[in-house]
Amino acid sequence: MEKSPQTIEKQTTKKTDLIVITGAGGFIGGNLAQYFTKKGFTNIRAVDKKPLCQWYLHVAGVENLCLDVSDEDNCARVCENAVEVYNLAADMGGMGFIERFRVECLRSILINTHMVEAAYKAGVKRYFYSSSACVYNTLLQKDPKVRALKESDAYPAMAERGYGWEKLVSEMFCQEYWHERGMKTFIARFHNVYGPNGTWDGGREKAPAAMCRKVIEAIDAKDLSINIWGNGEQTRSFMYIDDCVKGIDMITHCDELIATPINLGSSELVTINELVSKVEKIAGKKLKRSYNLSAPLGVAGRNSDNTFIKKVLNWEPNTTLDKGLAVTYSWIKGQHAAKKAGKRIGRG
Ligand code: NAD
Repeated sequence: MEKSPQTIEKQTTKKTDLIVITGAGGFIGGNLAQYFTKKGFTNIRAVDKKPLCQWYLHVAGVENLCLDVSDEDNCARVCENAVEVYNLAADMGGMGFIERFRVECLRSILINTHMVEAAYKAGVKRYFYSSSACVYNTLLQKDPKVRALKESDAYPAMAERGYGWEKLVSEMFCQEYWHERGMKTFIARFHNVYGPNGTWDGGREKAPAAMCRKVIEAIDAKDLSINIWGNGEQTRSFMYIDDCVKGIDMITHCDELIATPINLGSSELVTINELVSKVEKIAGKKLKRSYNLSAPLGVAGRNSDNTFIKKVLNWEPNTTLDKGLAVTYSWIKGQHAAKKAGKRIGRG
């Protein structure tokens, strides 16, 4: 039975309580471990299936476990004594990956299915699930000049094939673990996240990192040209990583948002051509553009309607794309130079 707000048990997390973060060898999970450590939390368990040498961030004082959380027994081990769980593990990537590897994306259903059950059995107080704007009805995203997507636009459902449907069903799991079993679950629908310590090459990178890398490579090769997927007029909004981790924290500690999916994204809409212009400005170079019209594109346009998050949290992601891109460009430039010099770099 649904609990009324009056029956919701008030609970605050102590700095010594165990926080578990899955997918912590990846971009957002790694940055989240760093964020909670900086906030003074002293008992963090970071989990990822990748070998430790491939994690983007090794945060001092954090327990690192290399385990596959699509396995039920591993999930029970991961959730032992946990007070809060942040499930960010997923097989994912940019549009090129999501459109090409739908089976891998769908198989992430095993991760949340086992993690949410293990968290429940372990008596976890708060469970966070990282959903995506890819759950939204694709029929509403056919025009680059889109109306921003509000939370109710996920239903009637026509999510992105593979990745989007997996996220939508996992959201439902989380909602029912609250309604039927009383575990507090929190669901954020991320809109494209970018920033340092994330995937920037290899095929899983997203547009901001890909554009930074392409510009850096072009300058390095003294061939000032760039290839863009589609005609460059498709629109997106991009959220800087610092806003993302702050938002995850705020959402997970707001009882008004129990089992209630919420957008976590920037509402600064740009075309991909505008994104390239911003990167060119940071690099101080103009590149000759060519367009690959048969490349994977995803929806024509997508933006985050932030009415709900502003109402509930009195906040929305607010780092400008110019500011966030400058930091990201400089980090990728460093990674590119390190790779060229044969040094170890983080990998997705
Ligand atoms: P990422 O690929 O950098 O990190 C995900 C991590 O999960 C990887 O390190 C991977 O090794 C790990 N992982 C995958 N399967 C695993 C398993 N079975 N067991 C243990 N670890 C496993 O991706 P990210 O950008 O940090 O995304 C984190 C979460 O946010 C994901 O759930 C993703 O779907 C969601 N999301 C991200 C974005 C974005 O723009 N980055 C947008 C929407 C939603």
